[in-house]
Amino acid sequence: SERQQEFVLRTLEERDIRFVRLWFTDVLGTLKSVSVAPAELEQAFEGGIGFDGSAIEGFARVHEADMVAMPDPNTFQIFPFEGRGIGESARMFCDILTPDGTPSWADPRHVLKRTLSHAAEAGFTFYVHPEIEFFLLQEALTADVDPVPVDDGGYFDHTTHSLARDFRRQAILALERSGISVEFSHHEVAPGQQEIDLRYADALTTSDNLMTFRHIIKEVATSNGVAATFMPKPFTDQPGSGMHSHMSLFEGEDNAFHDPSDEARLSKTAKSFIAGLLKHAPEYTAITNQWANSYKRLYSRHVPGKISEAPAYVSWGRANRSALVRVPVYGKPNSARVEIRSLDSAANPYLAYAVLLGAGLRGIEQGYELPPSSEDDLWSLTDAERNAAGYRPLPANLAEALDEMERSDLIPEVLGEHVFDYFLKNKRAEWEDYRTQVSAYELGRYGNL
Ligand code: GLU
Ligand code: MG
Ligand code: MG
Repeated sequence: SERQQEFVLRTLEERDIRFVRLWFTDVLGTLKSVSVAPAELEQAFEGGIGFDGSAIEGFARVHEADMVAMPDPNTFQIFPFEGRGIGESARMFCDILTPDGTPSWADPRHVLKRTLSHAAEAGFTFYVHPEIEFFLLQEALTADVDPVPVDDGGYFDHTTHSLARDFRRQAILALERSGISVEFSHHEVAPGQQEIDLRYADALTTSDNLMTFRHIIKEVATSNGVAATFMPKPFTDQPGSGMHSHMSLFEGEDNAFHDPSDEARLSKTAKSFIAGLLKHAPEYTAITNQWANSYKRLYSRHVPGKISEAPAYVSWGRANRSALVRVPVYGKPNSARVEIRSLDSAANPYLAYAVLLGAGLRGIEQGYELPPSSEDDLWSLTDAERNAAGYRPLPANLAEALDEMERSDLIPEVLGEHVFDYFLKNKRAEWEDYRTQVSAYELGRYGNL
């Protein structure tokens, strides 16, 4: 809005801020940034900033390469912690437009917005609360650097004078000062593994916050001489990093998932939403778990002495941490929510929340029936037992996930044809590249044949 634009311009002047970063996200979830001087911004609010879309993953075919980044003044944020003698900086997220001013079908933010307005037509607002896991390592990873965790702590460990604890305190301060509210944080199960949970917000704000979160966490890590990674599974013998997300639909002030008269206190809306998440799970897994490495987290059942808490089978339960969807036992009516446990920390949040919401809405629209809940530990069952009980596995690897996605009629509807086609093509190429590599494991295992 005009007023918000004026506020941005005034604030820049008052605080003598010399750089404004305009941010957007490509189809694979990589943050893109262009800095503009405040003097250019007034014009940018009018007509956006032009750029060559063909240089950005998934944005344009070459003949339609001109694209426009239009800053959204509602996302204006000062980054106070990035002083370093050059003064404060600020950022805004952008919507991507084509030169005629219409939203680009390649913009992940637009994909999510479209799905949110679909929900709004049915009277719903979609809220999300992510639990982000990641590793702190001594050094940034490359093909030649083995991951070394910064500590040997475990779940909820409180170690005095540990780098991890100071890191979490600094990171949380930096996040709070950048307008991102943190609810909990703790050391996770694996050495060097951290978890920070954000306060719930609408899915668009949460997705913007997650892009900011990844940036800030990496900055704070670097300033401590260590490195943060959101890679889903950096260690063969340790659990991976998930991004469990608690989701709810509100109708105005009321949580549409709550029904006091139901024995599980779940509304019909909640049940059909969960049923949608279950039914379409194999189809959206390529988006929630988008890297070849993601599947090593989902199938990490054999980590000795550590219970895997990443799901690999389609089921739901209440206290069941092997389930794909968990319904936490909640206190206040407005806290009714469902937790998706497959999503990992290296997903594109805009696309991931769009497909999850799309699957849940499809369940509601078509009145899907919720199958019975299960409190079985799915990992301790044999394949035969799981089959007999009707638990479907999630795709075993990226290639299977892409096959499921390609057969889906829901996913292209949510993503739009452009993102759907680009994603499949890009990810098929990733899989080809991955599966033809000869790895250190193979040299060790087969080298002396
Ligand atoms: N790290 C586990 C995962 O990959 C989750 C642990 C937890 O329950 O928080 O999903
Ligand atoms: Mg956790
Ligand atoms: Mg959780």
